[in-house]
Amino acid sequence: MNKRVKLLLDLERESGMEEYFFCASPAKRGASVDAKSELESLARRVASCTRCDLHKTRRNVVFGSGSPTAKLMFIGEAPGEDEDLQGAPFVGRAGGLLTKIIEAMGLKREDVYIANILKCRPPNNRAPLPTEILECEENVRRQVEIIKPKVICTLGKFASQALLRTQTPISALRGKFQEYNGIKVMPTFHPAYLLRNPQDKRLVWEDMKKIRKVIQDA
Ligand code: URA
Repeated sequence: MNKRVKLLLDLERESGMEEYFFCASPAKRGASVDAKSELESLARRVASCTRCDLHKTRRNVVFGSGSPTAKLMFIGEAPGEDEDLQGAPFVGRAGGLLTKIIEAMGLKREDVYIANILKCRPPNNRAPLPTEILECEENVRRQVEIIKPKVICTLGKFASQALLRTQTPISALRGKFQEYNGIKVMPTFHPAYLLRNPQDKRLVWEDMKKIRKVIQDA
């Protein structure tokens, strides 16, 4: 403990104060500063990426948003039109539903980290090409490495199959923990799918309860 802090604690103890509550240890605070600056420097690099043709049609790179030390990370497919315009992930209708799901878990958007497999919008929201996924996968891998979440929740078929490098259908993947570089992954349905199939919201809620248990115990 540093001398100045010890002096202050001694003074306070002498004046009758018995309990102390600390928000974060210096080590944790340091980790959060490091993660923030590492994410910022990765974001700067991705902002000028021209590795695939999507850079020709994008209006903004959508790197990701949220807490650099989040215990829970959501990974979607790729930016849509709203995201491309605003430069932020999940800000359209599907994003509104994702926000509600996060809040139903007792969290706020700022508590989690939200990213996509692709950082640039495919024209007319077409499905990502295998080459685009390949060129971009290093970015999401680094984001996960920096954030070190306890759980990753992949949203929908594309994100789940791309991250887990599998062709298994989302209907078979969802609801069961998988693994990515030593981190638990819960594949679930994409919020855009839920907007079309609201009867499946209860399945997603089952998945969120499993995630909540892991992050509460972490
Ligand atoms: N769908 C996604 O997969 N990602 C977004 O950011 C928005 C919609």
